[in-house]
Order: sequence, then C-alpha cells, then structure tokens
Amino acid sequence: MLEIQNLTVNYGGLRALSDISFSVKKGQFVAVVGANGAGKSTLFKALSGTVKPASGAIRFDGQDLLRVPPHERAHLGIAHVPEGRRVFASLSVLENIEMGAYSRRGRAHFKQTLDAIYAMFPILAERRDQLAGTLSGGQQQMLAIGRGLAASPQLLLLDEPSLGLAPVVVDEIFDRVGQIHREHGLTILLVEQRAGEALDACDHGVVLESGRIVRSGPRSSLMADGGALRSAYIGV
Ligand code: ATP
Repeated sequence: MLEIQNLTVNYGGLRALSDISFSVKKGQFVAVVGANGAGKSTLFKALSGTVKPASGAIRFDGQDLLRVPPHERAHLGIAHVPEGRRVFASLSVLENIEMGAYSRRGRAHFKQTLDAIYAMFPILAERRDQLAGTLSGGQQQMLAIGRGLAASPQLLLLDEPSLGLAPVVVDEIFDRVGQIHREHGLTILLVEQRAGEALDACDHGVVLESGRIVRSGPRSSLMADGGALRSAYIGV
C-alpha cells in the first residue's frame, strides 16, 4: 500500500534521512522506532508533504505521492494523527471527531465510523459533549486517534502517541491501537521513540538510527534482538 524507496531528506547540509526503503502492506501495522533525532518526524513530514525529499520515491497504492499536493493527500485515504495530539481544545469531543471527517471518504461513512470510534473508545462516547481541552492527556490522545479514524482512512499515520504520557497510559494506548489493527484490519504506520512498547504492539518494525535503517523485520525477530532495541533507544 505504501512504498518508500531510497528516500533521502536534507535540511541544508544536514542529512536527516539517508536512502531509506521499506514498505507497509495492506493490513500491516508497521512501527518505525528510533532515538531523538533519528529522523522519525522527517519521515512523516515527507509523507504529509511539509518537507521535500532530495531524492527517492513514495508510492501510495501505486500512485506517486510526491506529485500529489499536500492538501489532496488526505483525500487519498491517508489520515495523520499528529505529534502532541493537537485536539481543538475549545470544541467538544464530538465536534473534534467531526472535524476529522472532512475528507470525501470520511463524510461518506461518518455515521458507522462514529459508532465504531465510540465502541473502541467508550470514554469518548461518555464525554462526547465535554470540551476537548478539559480531557486528560491520555483521553486527548484517544480523541486524536478517533479524529484520525473519522476520516475512514486506508492508512493511519500515528506520530509519537506516547509523547508526555505516563507509562501505564502509553500501554493502554498501544493496546487499543493493536486492537483496532486486529479487529478492523486497518493499515497503520507508527513512528515512536518508546521502542519497546511500539515494537511489542506492531507486526513489523523498522529501526532508524541517525537517518538510516539499521534493522527491520517482523516483531518477533526484533523483540528477540537486543541490539535492535539498544540502537532504537540510544542511537549513536
Ligand atoms: P524526535 O523524536 O526528537 O522528534 P526524530 O527522530 O523525529 O526526533 P527528526 O525530527 O526527524 O528526528 O530530525 C532528524 C534530524 O534532522 C535531526 O538531526 C534534527 O536536528 C534535524 N532537523 C529536523 N528538522 C530540522 C529543520 N527544520 N532544520 C534543520 N534540521 C532539522
């Protein structure tokens, strides 16, 4: 579904991503893990169109994504749950979810999707009329994921959902994401600094270190590989 081929991104003289290639197949849950500065955010910026790669290709369903203007990419079925959640604090939970359904696909399926989101995150149903800014950090993260799901995406991009959350809340978020993947067969690409939790939840992992892929493979092989976890946490 998503193919990244020999992608290189520079910021001036600094190489943030160096010739990286991997793919996300339909129905797969792929986690890209790495330490601070490994290049995770840069990868998502290239996918969303906010940085322009120096070379390489990104294909989504066979289409050349780099030729699609950034604002059109949401209509292709890619939903991006941003780092730091960025919920609309002065809107209610329901209004936030509705904001996620602006894409053509989202609008067409909204009624069923909303029921599914409430079933996945019952707290959002309970608090549907509460202002998003008054939710806890974990609940805001669930809302941000719910808002992404409201677009009825084919591919869900999750940017560092653990940011600023307590370990027990992070575990709950990853459990839910794993459940959404299993029960709905949703294709997910996650970038995350908390490598242990992310690799545990995914079915295929990619370890980035200083802009290069140093390991990749199925969850079981990466979890058994102490070196992979070390480079994901520490980098160089
Ligand atoms: P973090 O988890 O801290 O967000 P990351 O893995 O997402 O880290 P990136 O933000 O992609 O890493 O950064 C990769 C490299 O590119 C780093 O060395 C960073 O300092 C550099 N970088 C990122 N954005 C810019 C920018 N706008 N201008 C110059 N250098 C940048």
